[in-house]
Amino acid sequence: MKQYAIALVPGPVSVPEEFRRAYFENFGSADLEEEFFLLYEENESLLRKLLKTNNAVTIQSGEAMSVLWGALKSILLPGDRLLAVSNGVFGRGFGEMGMMLGMDVRIVEAPDGEFPDLDSIRTAAAEFRPKMITAVHCETPSGILNPVAGVGEITRETGALFCVDYVASAGGADVRTDEWGIDIGLLGSQKALSLLPDLSMVAVSDRAWEAVERTNYQGYDALLPWRDGPKNRYLPYTHNWHALYALSLSLRRLFEEGLDRSFARHDEVARYCRERLGAMNVALYPKSEALCSPTVTAALVPQGWTWNELNGALRSRGMAVGGSYGPLAGKVFRIGHMGTQADMKLVEEGMDVLEAVLKNR
Ligand SMILES: *Cc1c(COP(=O)(O)O)cnc(C)c1O
Repeated sequence: MKQYAIALVPGPVSVPEEFRRAYFENFGSADLEEEFFLLYEENESLLRKLLKTNNAVTIQSGEAMSVLWGALKSILLPGDRLLAVSNGVFGRGFGEMGMMLGMDVRIVEAPDGEFPDLDSIRTAAAEFRPKMITAVHCETPSGILNPVAGVGEITRETGALFCVDYVASAGGADVRTDEWGIDIGLLGSQKALSLLPDLSMVAVSDRAWEAVERTNYQGYDALLPWRDGPKNRYLPYTHNWHALYALSLSLRRLFEEGLDRSFARHDEVARYCRERLGAMNVALYPKSEALCSPTVTAALVPQGWTWNELNGALRSRGMAVGGSYGPLAGKVFRIGHMGTQADMKLVEEGMDVLEAVLKNR
């Protein structure tokens, strides 16, 4: 398989050797040993600090999508109303997943590269009376960091539950679960935490647990067994001890650096990336600088290039970036600078390669 010296894809991000080494350890059996549960609890308390919450944080095996599905199925029943706030693939995806599950869905869409205005969300919420409102903090395929706090306020006015996907922001951008009124916060391991795509986490409020209990969904991705399972030392499947060990290393490194310093590091590389793109006359996808995510930069494929040509030219010089999906496929390309990839030297090298490729056309 091809290796890229300049890996700037927006996840899964490069995993440092220290975290990968965690997978070579020999542990006991995760369902039986007290040591495993202590590791689980250590991770939970570090995740609470990361996500700024006093709520329980569950840690499941499986890639982040498993908790997006699991949360929807655990909270809502077919016929329940779901309002999805969208300005991209994941925002709309919540609505589409809800439809596939038989829920009554309304999607509030934003104009291209923007966030829906709060009044239109408020009006939709008041009319539709949803049981849950979903939003995405970092809409990765659009390179946008959404102001979800305002949606949290509207959700509280409506009495709905607020579910936020912060898979691609937490660790690289400030996430305030409790202050923003987030009842269900969703996280994965392969973005700013710089781990393999093998763990998914959910911060669950007491109100959300009540809904989970009433819905009583059973299945591999069900949330309910994670409410009392860790306390009772009884989990629904054999957990991934190695991944949890790697998670504890990643979180410890993050707090050694300091959360605020990590956010500043992400801000700096993102700003630098935008400046270099500006100097190359490459337009950003988000309509305003204020919406640009510190973890991923989305730009328009330059005039005179197709995405395939640009991607091929960059890859032949050892650099990997991301394309986009859905309506943005072929039009937008993305530079992932989260976790280990929020590294000024790496992003500098990447921007040099991009500049050379565009000049030598
Ligand atoms: C990466 C990501 C996920 C997980 O999705 P995959 O496409 O399976 O990696 C979920 N939500 C957001 C916002 C993400 O960036």
